[in-house]
Amino acid sequence: MSRATTVRLDLRALVHNLRRVRVAAPGRRVAAAVKADGYGHGLVRVARTLDADAFAVACLEEALTLREAGVTRPILLLEGVFEAAELPSCARHDLAVAVHHPDQARMLETARLERPVRVWLKIDTGMHRLGLEPETAPAIFQRLRDGPSVRTDIGLMSHLARADERDCDDTLRQLRTFEAAIADLPGERSLANSAGILGWPRTHFDWVRPGIMLYGASPFVDSLAPDEDLRPVMTLHTRLISIKRLRQGEPVGYGGTWVCPEDMDVGVAAVGYGDGYPRHAPSGTPVLLNGREAVLIGRVSMDMITLDLRRHPEARIGDSVVLWGEGLPVERIAQAAGTISYTLLCGVTARVKRDVVPADGD
Ligand SMILES: *Cc1c(COP(=O)(O)O)cnc(C)c1O
Repeated sequence: MSRATTVRLDLRALVHNLRRVRVAAPGRRVAAAVKADGYGHGLVRVARTLDADAFAVACLEEALTLREAGVTRPILLLEGVFEAAELPSCARHDLAVAVHHPDQARMLETARLERPVRVWLKIDTGMHRLGLEPETAPAIFQRLRDGPSVRTDIGLMSHLARADERDCDDTLRQLRTFEAAIADLPGERSLANSAGILGWPRTHFDWVRPGIMLYGASPFVDSLAPDEDLRPVMTLHTRLISIKRLRQGEPVGYGGTWVCPEDMDVGVAAVGYGDGYPRHAPSGTPVLLNGREAVLIGRVSMDMITLDLRRHPEARIGDSVVLWGEGLPVERIAQAAGTISYTLLCGVTARVKRDVVPADGD
């Protein structure tokens, strides 16, 4: 038997989750965030499955991968170009670019392109990462519109820093800042990420930009995917490769961080940080053993984890172990390991076999 570690990608769940976006934000257009290899689910695979109105990526390389795969929908570079030399490709392949800094506006003003590109002005409304100062937006808007390299249908966007916290005033403050900055400007508007889509209807505007919810994880700190009617696309799965009887007082794994409190069975599952399972998942982190919760004990190693089998007397070598996904929300593992679902989904390594369930398979 070869190593059983597999990631199952259920594309039916992806379709369901996009439907969930459209229910939450009726009548709005959807730019699906597919950056970072579709949050670890496969950039082209995700884009071919999703009937989104546009795709949002982090860089030109990701956009060109989509165009080469035959994706013809609009594509937006969320961070725009990093240097002027990228602009001719954007024009040729019809890629929209964010303009978040005056330098990027200058690049467009001096570029000579075969045809004008679509621009989304990205305004800093309080996240203070990327974005134009709100009071500078109208002037930059005018300059770009008057130049030959930019299409006249300039979009207006910003990004929310704390929409995942349901009662945080900062989101309303960002909303007000956004509305004030663009009050006198024409053009399509976009503000909401997944948390905005599900939790803050006033942020929907013309285009919503879901990411994490498409992949079936809750964007909120206080809920799990099933609470939001989201279905996990990714299930990380392996099998038990050993069961051993250990005596009270015997340590388990590197560092001996877990010591058996009594004579007990310890199982070994074939998954570790070399597969993208988080190294910092502590003892007590849940797994699903034959569909029932068991807990990890001791340190995570590169290729293996150890499990407490005291409540699983029926366990046998070869039994199924789910690390996250169907039946075990990835948010729970992220929380246990002190991280977020995004990093776990993005972090499954290349050696893990992909097992794809097609979208039309139901
Ligand atoms: C990644 C990203 C999104 C999607 O965010 P989620 O929290 O995954 O929904 C939306 N907008 C921008 C600008 C992004 O970078």
